[in-house]
Amino acid sequence: MSELRELYQSVILDHNKRPRNFGEVEGANRSADGFNPLCGDKITVTLDLEDDVVKNVAFDGAGCAISTASASLMTESIKGKTIDEALQLFEGFHELVTGNPKIEVDTSGLGKLTVFKGVREFPVRVKCATLAWHTMKSALEGSGKIAKTE
Ligand code: ZN
Repeated sequence: MSELRELYQSVILDHNKRPRNFGEVEGANRSADGFNPLCGDKITVTLDLEDDVVKNVAFDGAGCAISTASASLMTESIKGKTIDEALQLFEGFHELVTGNPKIEVDTSGLGKLTVFKGVREFPVRVKCATLAWHTMKSALEGSGKIAKTE
């Protein structure tokens, strides 16, 4: 189990140090802002949506290691996916980090996102991990509202 923990940690540290898809999508047709007041994490997600497919996605902002790594992995996971697939990943990820630690979740299909499984043991960190996902969701839904983790 400790090896698994180390792996989780190294993926999160790597994505925090070198976030993927950091910046802004040029010619983005969707965007949303997110804020996690508990920790101070701020994020902007920009998306290029074409025919229900996420052609490109990027994030910008500043936050703790968990929120940055989560945003980085979120962009990697949803790029090239349809809206439905992206929302399905949102559901899966949400369950992964908010579920009862004693109940095993089906992590098939989540790929690298499973590194966030340990977050469910730290309720304060859940909002850091889900911020980018809530923001992505509101960008997809085009509500234009600021995503809050509350
Ligand atoms: Zn945070």
